[in-house]
Amino acid sequence: MALYVHKYGGTSVGTVDRIRHVANKILQAKQRGDDLVVVVSAMSGETDRLLNLAKQIQDRPNPRELDVLLATGEQVTIALLCMALETLGCPASSYTGAQARILTDAAHTKARILDIDTSRIRKDLAQGKVVVVAGFQGVSEEGDITTLGRGGSDTTAVALAAALKADECLIYTDVDGVYTTDPRVEPKARRLDRITFEEMLEMASLGSKVLQIRSVEFAGKYNVPLRVLSTFVDGPGTLITYEDETMEKALISGIAFNRDEAKLTVEGVPDRPGIAAAILGPIADANIEVDMIVQNVAENDTTDFTFTVHRNDYPKALEILDKIKRDLGARRITGDDQIVKVSLVGVGMRSHAGIASKMFRALAQEGINIRMISTSEIKISVVLDEKYLELAVRTLHDAFELDKVST
Ligand code: ADP
Ligand code: ASP
Ligand code: MG
Repeated sequence: MALYVHKYGGTSVGTVDRIRHVANKILQAKQRGDDLVVVVSAMSGETDRLLNLAKQIQDRPNPRELDVLLATGEQVTIALLCMALETLGCPASSYTGAQARILTDAAHTKARILDIDTSRIRKDLAQGKVVVVAGFQGVSEEGDITTLGRGGSDTTAVALAAALKADECLIYTDVDGVYTTDPRVEPKARRLDRITFEEMLEMASLGSKVLQIRSVEFAGKYNVPLRVLSTFVDGPGTLITYEDETMEKALISGIAFNRDEAKLTVEGVPDRPGIAAAILGPIADANIEVDMIVQNVAENDTTDFTFTVHRNDYPKALEILDKIKRDLGARRITGDDQIVKVSLVGVGMRSHAGIASKMFRALAQEGINIRMISTSEIKISVVLDEKYLELAVRTLHDAFELDKVST
C-alpha cells in the first residue's frame, strides 16, 4: 500500500465549501486504497489577520506570544476538515503540531524542525484513519508552541513525508504546477513538467513563493519525491526532481522576483581596510540579513558602499547607518525602498556565455534602468525600480522565449 502526504494551502481551504471539496478529494484518494496524511494551512487571509491584530497591540509583538496566536489559524482548519471527512464517513483524526510531536528549535516565528515522533500517526494509519496535521507549527523542547515562518506548511508536509518515508508529497495549491514565472504577472507563463531541486531552491530563495525554501531544502536532502499541483483542476502538476539525462535541457528554467527589497548606500566613505566590516557589523548585530553588496571603485580615496535588505528592515537599517555615519567618516546615507529584484534561473546557464548580455540588452530596449547586478553559476539577478517589475518580467519572458518548450 502506498503512503502519500497531501498539503492543502490557504486558498484551497479558504471557505467551508472548499474544505468540503478537499474532504471529497481525500475520500477519493482513500478509496484508491492509499494511506493518507494531510497537512493544511490556515484559511486564506487568516494568518495576515492574526498578525494584524497583534500589531495593533504591540509594534514588535513578543515572538513567543505571536506563535501562540498564529498557530490558531491552522488549528481551525484541521478540526473543520476532520468534521467534513466524518460527514463523508471517512474516519480522521486532527493533530496540532505539538500533538503530532513535531519537535523544533526555540527560534519563535522561524523555527526549524529537529525531529518528528511518528508513532501516534502510524497507529492511526494502521487503523485506517486519515491523519490531518496542522501545518506551519511545532513544539520546542521546553513545550512552547513554535511556527516555521510564512509558507511553513509546505515544510511541515515535506518533513512528515521524509519522516514517514512517504511515496510522494503532493502540494495542492491554487495553481496547477510550477510555472516559468508567476502566472499572475505573466499570463503567458508555461507550466513545467519537471524542475530540478537545485533550480526550485534558487527560484524559491529568489522570491517565488509557490514553495517555502526550507521545504525544497528538506525534500532535496531526504530525497522526498515532491509534486506541486492544483486543488481545483486535475493534472500532473510539476515534479521536483534530481537532474537526469532525459530532462529538457533548458537554458533558463524560470524568472523569479522579489518585491520585499530595499537598498541603502553609504556615500563617500574613506576607502580603507575594514570599512565593509564597520558598516555591516552593526547591521548584522541587529539581526538584519543583507543580500546583495556592491562597493564602487574608489575616487579621491573615498568610495560608495551599497547593500540590500528586506523591506521590513529598511527603517531600522537606515537608523543604524545614520547613527554610525560620523564614525565611518561617511559623507551621506541614502536609501530606496521602492526597488525589486528580478532573477533569471537555470542550470543550463553554467555552460552558456552571453545570457547576461542578452538580459541587459532586453531590459535596456525597454528603457529599464538596472541599479544593481549579482550573478552566480545558475542565476543572474538585477535590482530595478519597483514600477518596472511587471514590464521587466514580461520582457525577459519574451526575450528568452520561455513560453516555448526548448528543444
Ligand atoms: P498556498 O496558499 O497554496 O500555499 P501560495 O500563495 O503560497 O499558495 O503559492 C501559490 C502562488 O504562488 C500562486 O498563486 C502564484 O501566484 C505564486 N507563484 C509565484 N511564482 C510562481 C511560479 N513560478 N509558478 C507557480 N506559481 C507561482
Ligand atoms: N498559514 C501560514 C502562512 O500564511 C503558513 C502557510 O500557509 O503555509 O504563511
Ligand atoms: Mg504557500
